[in-house]
Amino acid sequence: MIVALLLSSIIFFQKTRTPDIEEEPRITLYLSAQQRVVELGLEEYLTGTVAAEMPAGFGVEALKAQAVCARTYAIRKIIEGRSYPGGAQLSDDINSCQAYVSPQEFARRNPSHYRELWSKIETAVKETRGMVMVYRGEPIDALYHSTCGGKTESAVATTGREIAYLRSVDCGYCQASRYYQSQQVFSPQDLAPLFKSSSPGQKINLKVLARTGSGRVSRLEINGQSFYAETMRRTLNLPSTWWELSNQNGDLIINSRGYGHGLGLCQYGAGGMASQGKSFEKILKHYYQDIQLLTLKY
Ligand SMILES: [Zn+2]
Repeated sequence: MIVALLLSSIIFFQKTRTPDIEEEPRITLYLSAQQRVVELGLEEYLTGTVAAEMPAGFGVEALKAQAVCARTYAIRKIIEGRSYPGGAQLSDDINSCQAYVSPQEFARRNPSHYRELWSKIETAVKETRGMVMVYRGEPIDALYHSTCGGKTESAVATTGREIAYLRSVDCGYCQASRYYQSQQVFSPQDLAPLFKSSSPGQKINLKVLARTGSGRVSRLEINGQSFYAETMRRTLNLPSTWWELSNQNGDLIINSRGYGHGLGLCQYGAGGMASQGKSFEKILKHYYQDIQLLTLKY
């Protein structure tokens, strides 16, 4: 266990080209809007990531939980050796990595409370400096999402692979999210992008073929064609795959719960737990099971 962690640390510090483990590692980040690569200290990068990934109005314990998630996620990516445009180790593209906002951009977005909010985020990052989540001595795949809608998803349901620390858990903390429950309405024509070459027809007939253990739809059939729920979520830009589907006056009504894939930390749930006085450690151990917190010294 310790050997695996040491190995991970050595690979991590080599990849960040920081020969002296006492020093804060430096990372390279691809900024997708500007199409350029910048070099930042790891903790400086994390401040911008927490600022971009979680509302700064959340309690500081939620921000600390987010900082540990973002640090673990980044370190794991660096160890895996993934390369982004320009050879960068990380990217601000949320489809393949995690978001990042510069202090200047954050100030522009929050003109009135910039200093107060930024220093709150800095505090959350500083108070968890070097801290990562490990399972059996290795940094975990710290996936997180906006809102689970009442229950998180398990890794086995989405990838078919059992991951001990990504199991489905109840979450009674994310009701404050506007995506806790939401409704989307589609006419048969709105569904056309899903059918590509053929036509969806004038009437919608639907059948849920399979649900995951948490209740999310995994496969469904619309007018005789079967679809993966995840494909439908992406094509129709739906908030999640946790649906109750019905047919009203010729339209498809989708009552959705949550926003995002549902794996790992529920960010609005973390906000809810923090507002109830729970510590960041308690928050993390609720959403990731059997993990340990470990602090890298630099
Ligand atoms: Zn939740």
